[in-house]
Amino acid sequence: PPLYKQRYQFIKDLVGKYKPKKVADLGCADCTLLWMLKFCSCIEVLAGLDICASVMKEKMHRLSPLPVDYLQPAERSLTVTLHHGSVAHKDPCMLGFDLVTCIELIEHLEESELKKFPEVVFGFMAPSIVVISTPNSEFNPLLPGVTLFRHPDHKFEWNRAQFQSWALETARCYDYSVEFTGVGHPPTGMENVGFCTQIGVFVRKYPQTSESAQSEKPTEAVYKTVFKAVY
Ligand code: SAM
Repeated sequence: PPLYKQRYQFIKDLVGKYKPKKVADLGCADCTLLWMLKFCSCIEVLAGLDICASVMKEKMHRLSPLPVDYLQPAERSLTVTLHHGSVAHKDPCMLGFDLVTCIELIEHLEESELKKFPEVVFGFMAPSIVVISTPNSEFNPLLPGVTLFRHPDHKFEWNRAQFQSWALETARCYDYSVEFTGVGHPPTGMENVGFCTQIGVFVRKYPQTSESAQSEKPTEAVYKTVFKAVY
């Protein structure tokens, strides 16, 4: 399967393993991952965030309930919300999540945004699990036509040592553990370059109740809600 599907499948497998009730996808783009996750029966709250409102709105109506959802109401309730805003800014609507996914997001961040990102995601949102994926630049020589970066909007592409040192330092700073994996296997004989997409799975080391998380963090709302569906 294409790489983006392997990344989404990786998240679906993780959801199957940890059974989070509340999942937020940062840099959700056209909401394909959110749309796939709405079929996971453990999930009760789904939220998407993107800095580009138009890309989110393109196909967001896929997230609306279908007639069948009204005819055969599910046991669980499901709320899906899309927010317009930046991962460089804190907003209370992102508190209380169990799993936060950042798939191919960080390489699109300007230096100043990347600097603020750990404090927003790990310090403020502080979910039990954070997943971050980003290109592994060591794989690039195997990709036809890639000279500098895989995409013109990428601000950087890291090799494994660069990603892992950033991730380990972030994990240490915010009291998470992190494990590294990836998707997109290299061809036989080229195993030394690693996965095409590198992935860090961060797990919060300290317990936290959603109540304490929310009451201790008075913050003004800055994101704009662009979509909401209640099943
Ligand atoms: N996660 C999706 C996926 O895997 O298919 C989309 C990845 S796309 C390559 C990166 C997305 O991040 C874009 O939709 C872009 O608008 C969004 N983005 C870039 N900077 C952002 C920021 N500061 N805050 C939130 N989203 C941002």
